[in-house]
Amino acid sequence: MSASRPAWFVLPPHLEGLDRFEPGKPIGEVQRELGLTDVVKLASNENPLGPSRRAIEAGRAAMAEAHRYPDPQATALRAALAAHLGMPVSHIVAGNGSVEILDLIVRAFLGPGDNAVISEHAFVRYRQLVAAHGRDARLLPMRGWAHDLAAMAAAADARTRLVFVANPNNPTGTWNRKAEVEALAAALPVGCLLVLDEAYFEYGDDPDYPDGIDLVRRGAPVVVTRTFSKVHGLGGLRAGYAVAAPEVLEALLVIREAFGTNSVAQAAAAAALSDAEHVRRSVDLNRTERARLAAELGGRRFSVLPSLGNFVTFDTRAAGRDVFRRLLARGVIVRPLDPYDMQSWLRVSVGTPEENTAFLAALDAVLPGNPP
Ligand code: PMP
Repeated sequence: MSASRPAWFVLPPHLEGLDRFEPGKPIGEVQRELGLTDVVKLASNENPLGPSRRAIEAGRAAMAEAHRYPDPQATALRAALAAHLGMPVSHIVAGNGSVEILDLIVRAFLGPGDNAVISEHAFVRYRQLVAAHGRDARLLPMRGWAHDLAAMAAAADARTRLVFVANPNNPTGTWNRKAEVEALAAALPVGCLLVLDEAYFEYGDDPDYPDGIDLVRRGAPVVVTRTFSKVHGLGGLRAGYAVAAPEVLEALLVIREAFGTNSVAQAAAAAALSDAEHVRRSVDLNRTERARLAAELGGRRFSVLPSLGNFVTFDTRAAGRDVFRRLLARGVIVRPLDPYDMQSWLRVSVGTPEENTAFLAALDAVLPGNPP
């Protein structure tokens, strides 16, 4: 890029060499590029059932008022979340997806010379956001493909303001247990916040999987982020939220653009929250199909990581990006994990039974050395 830069252009030095986040390829793009009509997208951990009907209707109704700016407080959505979570409204903020809130947390809490502690295979946005703001990320090795929380606590020093933990983690799917998360929150130095990213919370069906909001309730230095993009099937609308002490949220609100979550997203998200049946069906489908995918991949002798999310991560024992390209040519979009320094691994989102069958058939065609 530097060869073609205009003479007047100077890139801020801290942005030199940074890559953009690589999202899952959109279906339309794959159809256009490869001339395919049948494309299965299992690349962005979306809900294969789509949004709840109630959310669709509420979003449609909100469109009639789209000439009005959104409620900057997201009053109705936060009230619905407060009732759902059993937390005061003062402890909840809504965002334009949960990644907007993660960005606000970095901007608000990491000053010059401060650092954030992050695992090396953690959700890649954390380190990208920290780098984009010219701050220092301390990357720590994982243990058994999971966050090593004891090592993260030990790595936090007087200039560590944030410790990022995705639970479960994307892209590994691995999770940390209640006692170790509590121990981490208790071990942090004064002035340091644990950012507990629970984007996949609703799928967490292990009895020892913790609810981070309990820690907020007990006054621990924790900010929990969650999203409507996963189990609620509203990724296209961009709605997420954080739960934390009001002092933490105030620091985010003073730097935020006034209208964080758009009006259609606010209405659809509140309606989605009321559709417990849709959430239950989505979680049930995920549980069954996640187990099936893990068993099928294990039967083909791939290493498969245990997952508490709506995706399964496995070691192809080949160049993951090549396998990704060969699957793409057959109309199946998955996620290569070389941006995570997991060169031979792929992540596949749990789809409908038909989508998962199509993925397995395509995989058998492109990796014939691993028959079931
Ligand atoms: N956190 C994690 C761990 C994720 O995997 C994702 C989605 N890929 C997000 C946050 C982003 O969610 P949102 O759509 O709410 O910005």
